[in-house]
This record gives sequence, C-alpha cells and structure tokens, in this order.
Amino acid sequence: MGNAVVACNSQFAGIAAKVDQGLRIDADDARWLWKNASDAELCSLAGTVRGRFHAPDSCTYMVMRIINYTNVCVAQCDYCAFYKLPGASGGYVLSHEDVFAKLDELIALGGDLAAFNGGFNPQLPLSYYCDLFSAIRARYGDALEFYALTIAEFLYLADHAKLTYAEAATRLKEAGVRWITGGGSEILTEDFRSRHSKFKYTVAQYFLAQQAIIEAGLKTTATMVIGFDETLDERLEHLERTRRFQDETGGLASFLCWTFKPYFTQIGGIEITTSEYLRHLALSRIYLDNIPRIRTSVLTQNERALDGLRFGADDFDLPIEDEVTQKAGATISLDFERILNYARQLGYTPQYRHVSGGQQTS
Ligand code: SF4
Repeated sequence: MGNAVVACNSQFAGIAAKVDQGLRIDADDARWLWKNASDAELCSLAGTVRGRFHAPDSCTYMVMRIINYTNVCVAQCDYCAFYKLPGASGGYVLSHEDVFAKLDELIALGGDLAAFNGGFNPQLPLSYYCDLFSAIRARYGDALEFYALTIAEFLYLADHAKLTYAEAATRLKEAGVRWITGGGSEILTEDFRSRHSKFKYTVAQYFLAQQAIIEAGLKTTATMVIGFDETLDERLEHLERTRRFQDETGGLASFLCWTFKPYFTQIGGIEITTSEYLRHLALSRIYLDNIPRIRTSVLTQNERALDGLRFGADDFDLPIEDEVTQKAGATISLDFERILNYARQLGYTPQYRHVSGGQQTS
C-alpha cells in the first residue's frame, strides 16, 4: 500500500471516528470528505448521523404547492427567470380568489401545505399580506398550513412598511401566520450576494430577521441552493453559519437544499449532476448535526431526489406547483404513487407528514 493511500485511509478513519463518537466535523474535515471520500463513505457517515434522529427505513413526505402570489420584483437577482420589473408586461398579483382556488386544488390532490413565495413588489403594502393570511386562516382553519413568505420577502416587507423585524413578525403573527421559511438564502456569503443579488439583503440582515422571527414565536427553517458558481469554501461557509445559528437559537425545524435551474436566467450555465447534489446532501447531514430533519428536493431532482434518503435525508415534498423553478426548467409530476414507489423500492416506508393542525411542530 502506498504512503498516499495509507494517509488517505487514516484521514478518513479519523473523521469517521469523530462522527461515530458524536463529535463534530469542522470545515477542514468537510473539505477533505468532499474531495476524497467515496459515495459509499459519505453515505455511511451520513447514515450514522441520520440514525441518531430517525429509524433506518423511515422517511416522511408532504404534498404541497408553492403559491407565487406576485412575480413583480425589484431585486433583479441574476439567477432568476421568474421576476418582472414594476410596469413590465406580464407582471401579476394574485387575488384572494386566485389563492383560494389554488388552495382548494391542493386539498383536492391530497395536500395540506402551501408556501407563499413572490417578489419584492413595491405596490403591495403590509395590509395585502395580513389580509390574505388572515382570510386563509379564517377560511381553512387547521385543514391546511401555510408557509407565509421567505426570510428575503419578510426583510423587504418590513423595510417597505418601515417596521422593525420584531414589529413585522408580530403583525404577521397576529394575522394568523405560524411559519416564515428560510427561503431566499441561496448561498449565505456576502461575496456570493454581491455577485448575484446585491439588492437581496446581506447575510447579517438575513440572520437578524430570522432571529426576530424566532423570538416572535414563529417557526422557521433553513434552506440552501447549490449549482451556481459558488466555491466549495462558500458552500462550507453556508453550512457553518447555519450550524452556528442553530446552536444559538435552536429555531431551525429543518434544512432543505435544492439545485439551481439555469434555463432562461441571466447567468445561465449548466445544471450540476444529481451525483454532486447527493454528495452535498450527505455532507450537509454530517455537518448539520444539530438539525434533525434534512430534506431532499423532488422539485429540482424529480424522483432521483429520493436517492438522497441513502445520503442522509429523511423527508421530502411532493410539489404540485412552483412557478419560480418551473420558469427556470424544473418539471413537476403529479404521479405521486410512482415517486413514492421509488422510495419503497429503495427500502423506505414513506409516511405522510402533516404540518397543519398542530399535529407536527416541524
Ligand atoms: S429570486 Fe426572488 S428576490 Fe430575486 S429577482 Fe427573483 S423573485 Fe426577486
């Protein structure tokens, strides 16, 4: 056996021992794993961490839809194929009736979770959001749950309404909101944001807002998007910031990573492979040892996302709509049984996870 192979084996053994003992890996360990570990080795370590939270053959899923209530946006992220500038043709804002029709269709298809995601629309006052969310709560009660906005939209909304983050969170809570998800994070480094989304708030503002949301008693999540031009160090910085924030707050119910769809975007490019996505999922599970629920993205990887269950994930959505990613090339299948059967073929027993009605806290 050559010296290089021996060194490689001993490096892996050292990291594996840490994971087995429940110790944390650091960014250097993660970098080494990314560059040197085989898929089987990553699966094995991710499985060890997953096993601390979930039975080996278990996984959960939800049928959900993302409701893109407006596509008007002033942020101009160069990776976005969805937005229209104010006054441009094709811009829209959904009415309450439009939203109710989408929610009724979701329920008819067996789903009970909606996630609202739109643009930074300067025409929409705080009252648009509060009226919409209180009308949904009044009409549907606990029959469905909704993720109201992403952190990025929340930041814009608070600024636009000239409210502190705490005040904005309280106003939304009074309107019946229970969740504001960690969407709009993409890659949480200041460099990445200045390259691609300089009007979409800083990383520091992102976490301050998320902290205010948690302190107001709302629930939230962590997200990440890979496959732009981000470096390995930027991916690791994102994971490190997320882990640290969870140490400080304990407020992140889950972590969801998906992949950038480049079609019809300003920056363009080609998609990363599913294999790269799965390896990153495993690395995330190993690194984020303080987040029990790691989610895999059917929206951007279709049923191949379920291979992510072997790479440390335990949960996934079956989405019926998301215009943002569909505009950039995502395809959605409503053949839920085919997708669930793939999970079963892999040896998992998928169980529906209800977020609504207080049955689940995450
Ligand atoms: S990604 Fe979101 S914030 Fe950025 S331009 Fe698109 S809609 Fe606007």
